[in-house]
Parts: sequence; C-alpha cells; structure tokens
Amino acid sequence: MGGFFGVAAKEDCVFDLFFGTDYHSHLGTRRAGMAVYDKEEGFAKAIHKIENSPFRTKFDKEANTMHGCYGIGSISDFEPQPIMVHSHHGTFAVTTVGKINNADTLVEEILKNHSHFFVMSNGNVNPTELVAALIDQKENFIDGIRYALDVIDGSLSVLVLTERGIYAGRDNHGRTPISIGRKDGAICATFESSAFTNLGYAPLRELKPGEIVVFDSEKLHTLSEPENARMKICTFLWIYYGYPSTSYEGISVEKMRYHCGEKLAGRDNVKADIVVGVPDSGTAHAIGYSNAAGIPFSRPLIKYTPTWPRSFMPTMQQNRDLIAKMKLIAVPDLIKGKSMVVIDDSIVRGTQLRETAEFLIESGATEVHVRPACPPIMYGCKYLNFSRSKSEMELISRRTIVALEGTEDVSKEVLKEYCDPDSERYQRMVDSICKQLNFTSLRYHRLDDMIESVGIEPDKLCTYCWNGEE
Ligand code: SF4
Repeated sequence: MGGFFGVAAKEDCVFDLFFGTDYHSHLGTRRAGMAVYDKEEGFAKAIHKIENSPFRTKFDKEANTMHGCYGIGSISDFEPQPIMVHSHHGTFAVTTVGKINNADTLVEEILKNHSHFFVMSNGNVNPTELVAALIDQKENFIDGIRYALDVIDGSLSVLVLTERGIYAGRDNHGRTPISIGRKDGAICATFESSAFTNLGYAPLRELKPGEIVVFDSEKLHTLSEPENARMKICTFLWIYYGYPSTSYEGISVEKMRYHCGEKLAGRDNVKADIVVGVPDSGTAHAIGYSNAAGIPFSRPLIKYTPTWPRSFMPTMQQNRDLIAKMKLIAVPDLIKGKSMVVIDDSIVRGTQLRETAEFLIESGATEVHVRPACPPIMYGCKYLNFSRSKSEMELISRRTIVALEGTEDVSKEVLKEYCDPDSERYQRMVDSICKQLNFTSLRYHRLDDMIESVGIEPDKLCTYCWNGEE
C-alpha cells in the first residue's frame, strides 16, 4: 500500500515532515523517504529501508540535519521514493500511492523519446520514476500530473515537490484519499488525516477524485478538477488499512468499525461468553459487536507492541505467518473454559486465523465462532499494491471454489453466485472454509451490511475485491 505526507511552511518544515510521514508507518513495510526544498540549500533527499527498524529510528539523523520550507515524505511497501529528477520542469521530487497495471506499455511509449529508466533489483522500472517521466511528457506540472492520472490503468495519487510549492493530485476515482490540513504559517497534504492533528493542523478539506491542487505555506489553489469524476474510494481503508483516528470522506475509521461490528452482531444469534478482536483492526469491530450483542468484550490475545511494530514484516510468507503469531501473546486465564466470538478484519489465505483458532482451542477455549468484518475476498485488488496476497489463487475463497467446482475454469456467472450470501453455492463455500480452518462456526459480514456501516452512497465505494464490480 503506502502513504505520504507533504508540507509547505513559512519556517523550516522538517519537524512536521518527519512526524507527519512517521504517522503513515502502518501503511508500508519496506522503504521510506523524505525530500525537502530549501531556498538557500536547494533540494535534498534521503531514502532508507524500514524492513527491520522503524521510520523514526532510520531518519533520526535527517530529522536533525535536513532543512527546508517545503517537503514530501513517503512510507512505501514496494519502491524506494520520493524520486528526485531534473527535467525541462526544473528539479522536482515525486511520491506516489497506487498501482500501475499498464507500466510496460507506458514505459515503451516513453522510451521512444526518453533515454532510460533505472531498474530496481526486481528488474522492474520504479513506478514512481515512471510517474515522474509521465509528468515530464507535458509542458507544465498541471498538464503533466493530469496526464499521469489519466493514462494510468490502476490508481495513482501523487505529491510533487517543486521550488514554487507542492502539487497534489488525487486518483481519478479517489481510490486513495488526500486530506489537506492548515495551521498558522503552514499547509499540509496527507494520506492519513490523523497524521496532522498532533502537529497542530486543522482539517481544511479532502481533495475530490481527480482534483489537482498546488499549495505553499499560505494558499491552496485548485488547478484542475475533472467534471463528473466517479468516486470509488477503497472500502478496505475503513475495514483494515486505515489508522483508527483517521477519517476518509468525513467518516471516522474507528466509528465505522464499531458500526461494522454492530451490523455483524445484528444478524447473529450465537451464544458465547466473550467477544474477542484479533489485534489491531479486529479490536474495534469486536467492540461494536460486543456492544450490540451484549456479550462482554475481552482481550485474551494481546499484541506485544513495544518491539513489534507493524513495519517489521519479512517478505517470505512462511516467516510472515510466524511473525504474525509471535506478535500476539495469550492470556490463558481469559481463554480456559470460554466460548468465544472471534472477529478479524478479513480472511485472506486463512492460515493465520486457523492457527489462532487452533491455539485458542488448545488453550482451553470451548468454542471459537469466527466473524470476519467483511465478506469473502474473491478477487485480487487491481488498484492498490495490496501486499497480503500475490494471486487470486492464494485466496482461501477461490481455492475452495476450485475444489467445490472440481475445476480452475470457473465462469464469471458461477463466481457471481458464490458472492451472493443468499445462494446455496455461497453457503457451501462458507461451510467448507469453516471446516478447513477448524472453526466452531463461521459467518462472514454481508456486503450490503458492510457498505451500510460506512455510511456513504454505495456507488462511491470500491467493492471490487468482494464482488468483482468495477
Ligand atoms: S479492490 Fe478492494 S482493496 Fe482494492 S481498492 Fe477496491 S476495495 Fe480497496
């Protein structure tokens, strides 16, 4: 996934940039960077790996040595960024969030007039460098950013640092957010609105889908705004990715999770002693469920936070499962003899949740009823670098469907039936997943209920990974 923060200030902005970027650490695990512009010293940039130690530790030196009144920062799950380039626009730095599905075609097109791209160690062109090159294709930043937003298949939100200020462009379908904050002498643009509250910024507004703005320390100007832009913001931001204290489209993440849990409880009639949330995001959904069902909320699984930041995540799947397990420590006294409703944000491959359920039973739980806060995930995300599954066939729902249908060649119509919670096929799939994962019972959230929990018009939400609808 990834996140970014940009700030333009009258005075030095590095303190705000450092903390504003750090507050996106839950969105990425691999690389982080900061780029600044100072009137005297010009541009400066630093990028570090954050796989094994958090942003704040890695950028401690830069926080004290970098200077500038404008800056952008990035937390990234994939490519190193921000990218700094010199072109006919002058020097500028770019940071992005999104996914470019047509990168090969775009690179080929640009190479007709452009000498080269750097290649990352995985052999691919750095997607953020590609965005910088797309911006260079046009006469000015506004047209260049517009061009990048328009030609990319997938999604793109972008911050561009220049000598004159910071440009921000939100994805044409608003899949990812950009919020603007303001305080005396400074304006910031951020993925997570929670990143600016402790820094003294008040929320100004969120960019509309496809909107491009430029700002300095005093003013924000809209430069381009497509007519009839179709909003399709990622619903997973509320379910899992987003920081609890953030709001998107005016809807608080934490509050949405309470509603989501309440709705989940509203259709359930399971008898249990306690409601348990799998930390972190499962906790808020579980609080909502517990409040609505009148079953006490309990924390028999506690995350060991002091030395296990979310950013430590090895790329090998085997190790990831082990790390996920090591992060949680059980409270045996709260488990023994208890029947429990266990709420997680979602089930992707199912391995972690199966291990958690088996562990709870081995530790003396009498029943483990699992209630994911979203429907079965049926499709890989086309719009964001969703690091939790590499292919659709890793999804437990898809593997189960293949097993039930006896073929990998499952038609769209049949898949549609599996997405329908009132169909027999759906029920057979859920029963099979429940059995495979050794749960006492399994009941997923319904898509209509989950959408209602967000509270904005359903057609403004992206739900592709659950129903394949674009
Ligand atoms: S497909 Fe799913 S994860 Fe991807 S943008 Fe849409 S809702 Fe978000």
